Amino acid sequence: MKIIRISVYQIDLPLEYPYWLSGGRLKFETLDATLVKVETDAGLTGWGEGTPWGHTYVPAHGPGIRVGIETMAPFLMGLDPRRVLDVERAMDLALPGHLYAKSPIDMACWDIAGQAAGVPIADLMGGGSRTPRPIASSVGAKTVEETRTVMERYRQRGYIAHSVKIGGDVERDIARVRDVESLRKSGEIVLYDVNRGWTRQQALRVMSACEDMNVIFEQPCETLDDIAAISGRHASPVSVDESLVTLQDGARIARDGLAEVFGIKLNRVGGLTKAARLRDMALAHGIDMFVMATGGTVLADTEALHLAATVPDDNCHAVWACQDMITVDIAGGRGPRNVDGHLHLPEAPGLGVHPDEDALGYPVGAYQ
Ligand code: MG
Repeated sequence: MKIIRISVYQIDLPLEYPYWLSGGRLKFETLDATLVKVETDAGLTGWGEGTPWGHTYVPAHGPGIRVGIETMAPFLMGLDPRRVLDVERAMDLALPGHLYAKSPIDMACWDIAGQAAGVPIADLMGGGSRTPRPIASSVGAKTVEETRTVMERYRQRGYIAHSVKIGGDVERDIARVRDVESLRKSGEIVLYDVNRGWTRQQALRVMSACEDMNVIFEQPCETLDDIAAISGRHASPVSVDESLVTLQDGARIARDGLAEVFGIKLNRVGGLTKAARLRDMALAHGIDMFVMATGGTVLADTEALHLAATVPDDNCHAVWACQDMITVDIAGGRGPRNVDGHLHLPEAPGLGVHPDEDALGYPVGAYQ
């Protein structure tokens, strides 16, 4: 089987509500999504998606995905998409780095490989738990009152897992954590996501003040150096996502004990092939996981769900999915959707959901 054509589509995904990170430091209203169709000489077609969370969140750029694929495409023609490691190496040779540009191609190849084998991607990867995964909400509020309102809105939709965005003013952050914890319901999963918003000093103040609650703080500071510098000076559990990009990052975090949780963002780390190695590194070091779409449509959510299904149930806290935050649906309601705050693994071979091509318009790039 050979790759004979790659088509690239761009669509805008408006958010239902404007979204704030780091206590209002960053605002997001629309996501720039890239959908990729990989066609083979065997008649099988795979789909991938790369949707960064805007351009200001992490070093990933919607247009950069599209020109990255243009650069890599000549090196991918003729490869067998079922040999995902061959495709990975070809991409890494053609364009070092730029992992976010590679993940949609990797995803489409896994989709084709699953279809060819007649099994869902998670099964092809060697372990597809059917335990529904809780979807983590995104509570991008700023005040105690707004936080209550947004969390209640998600609870109405069945959510039991929440990613509460903090990282602004220290005293307000402590007050918001204490308020959320005081109202936390039995069985709820809550993660406090700082999105790099604190200095070391600010992180130590909040994480020390909240030690009695034993809550997880995600990405408290800008870099792994910052997180390492405060490690051992507080007793709060840490999750790392934005600073978990390469296998080397994962090795450092695991070896130096910098986090108790990996937040694996599929688009950020370069797709399923590379994410699976991070998963194994986490499991080998007693580290739990949140598995996340970086943003995007039900396709990106489904990719995250497949990886999450290969993590033992006890080690997978939740998946982060974007489908309830955007107002455009490119798949007409198909694929895994929010059912009482959970996503159920699709049983169809491959990814398990494809877009309506009519909803995508004309391709902005086609290579053959
Ligand atoms: Mg995060």
